[in-house]
Amino acid sequence: MRYIINILILLCFNIGTSEFIHSKNKTIAIIGAGPSGLASAKSAKEVGLDVTIFEANSDIGGLWNPIQGATWNTLNTNLSKFTCNFSDFPWDSHESLFPSRNDMYYYMKSYINHFELSPCIKLNTTVTNLIRNELTNKWIVSYNSLTNPKSRKKSFDFVIVASGFFSKPKLPNLNFNKFKGSISHSKYYKTATPYEGKVVAVVGGAFSAVEIASDVYKKATKVYHLSSRGLWIAPRCIKVLGRSIPLDLIFFHENEPTSSTPLTLYSQLFHTYRSSNQDVVPYLTIELSKNPKPPILLTSDIYPELIKDERVVMINKPIKDLSEHSIVFEDDELEVDAIIFCTGFCTQMSFFNEELLDKLSFDPQNFLYPLVLHESVFHPNLPNLAFVGMYRRSYIGIMELQARWATLAFIEPEKYLPSKETMQKSIEELMKQRNLPPGPQSFYGGYTTLMKKLAKTIQADSILSDPRLSECPIIPAMFRMSGPFSKPEIAIKSINQCLKYLGLPLLDR
Ligand SMILES: Cc1cc2nc3c(=O)[nH]c(=O)nc-3n(C[C@H](O)[C@H](O)[C@H](O)COP(=O)(O)OP(=O)(O)OC[C@H]3O[C@@H](n4cnc5c(N)ncnc54)[C@H](O)[C@@H]3O)c2cc1C
Repeated sequence: MRYIINILILLCFNIGTSEFIHSKNKTIAIIGAGPSGLASAKSAKEVGLDVTIFEANSDIGGLWNPIQGATWNTLNTNLSKFTCNFSDFPWDSHESLFPSRNDMYYYMKSYINHFELSPCIKLNTTVTNLIRNELTNKWIVSYNSLTNPKSRKKSFDFVIVASGFFSKPKLPNLNFNKFKGSISHSKYYKTATPYEGKVVAVVGGAFSAVEIASDVYKKATKVYHLSSRGLWIAPRCIKVLGRSIPLDLIFFHENEPTSSTPLTLYSQLFHTYRSSNQDVVPYLTIELSKNPKPPILLTSDIYPELIKDERVVMINKPIKDLSEHSIVFEDDELEVDAIIFCTGFCTQMSFFNEELLDKLSFDPQNFLYPLVLHESVFHPNLPNLAFVGMYRRSYIGIMELQARWATLAFIEPEKYLPSKETMQKSIEELMKQRNLPPGPQSFYGGYTTLMKKLAKTIQADSILSDPRLSECPIIPAMFRMSGPFSKPEIAIKSINQCLKYLGLPLLDR
């Protein structure tokens, strides 16, 4: 009798933990210990893989690392804490609505402690080469470390590349040697202090430029912001029925706008939620019919005020060149002491050889799709390899779902990995679209579309049909309510924090 019970227990155990059985003794290498790498490591541990994270820096956090990252001391997330989190690791309820750079760093530290990831992380260790052994189907990772610069090799069953989309500073093609003042890039900007008493030009038409111009003015004598495109600046929160609602909770909703005309779409949204400051700042008023480049919608609580008071002066002209002390335009020059280029990043893939880069159709100059992948995660001809966070708008919720999908697909490809034909078809489609002018939507879909699509791939999307959440924005915790490794107790805590903030009825436990 005892024997039969034992057999039954064994059978039940096997059925309930099939992932663990498939993954027994299998190894995974993860390149990078930023948010993507950490989410990947945690998901890989969950499915029972033996995890090694290689991190080139001396500390974790990627872009959010206070010393080696690409974020400055006064930066706060542009998404609210309800969106900017891992699905099963809620922020403390007293945390500020938009966590600071340091909050993000310590949040990741706590995530590492909570999920016991420390033993897996090899700091100061750079992956230099990644090659596939066709005979064993394993990936051979070459790496060196500060303590041992001699290259070493180790083979792994699976690899996740989480080395960051925003990796290498991108600079315009100008005569930098001529300029006698200081030149820097947003990647290296930490504080306004080095710019004390200087006339500073901040160059760029996106978030970093607006934010850095709004920070450096505190010490500089004068700040010019040079952008060749129009900017629409909305505050991070909009007052709705007397409540201050973060923009992400308004935009990241089930009924995400999918209009094919971005100008109309943004115009509608903007006019609905426009900042009162915008009315009195003529520089920021964009005439849609006259502007060739669609303006970009950015968030800042103070930038419009600074423009209005002329503490930051906006210049909408393309730069022709640099001279000894000036930025040269077609018709005049602007004398400055320092220039901070907030001109974006290229994606770097220095550990792949030419053949693999070719397979991935790698183009570092393509700022939207430097790699051609299925749903930005898999390539049909590179088995056992996945990419996490290799997507321009890859916020934490997306990175985490990609990580969960990748690790589940490694272990149970028959259940979670799409067919080779499906992946091939989607990359062929992306190849056709990647060089067209950027459309209103990313090829992969907007934030909520992609979140829902990814959640579906791991069968964690059943919550979307729950009528109790019809008013709730799409936040990461929703996709921990069901599916593999769901944690409804923790997810409800997170979802209720958001519902409470919005003044909506809470979920029952
Ligand atoms: C200025 C700025 C502000 C942002 N603000 C927000 C925000 O408010 N909210 C939000 O959700 N997102 C924001 N983002 C997006 C940001 O990309 C993500 O938050 C996130 O940091 C990306 O995580 P990641 O792990 O994919 O990459 P990264 O954070 O770049 O981490 C990649 C890691 O890989 C390591 N690495 C690279 N190559 C190797 C190698 N060969 N060997 C070993 N290690 C390697 C790097 O050292 C790094 O630590 C912002 C981005 C920028 C640039």
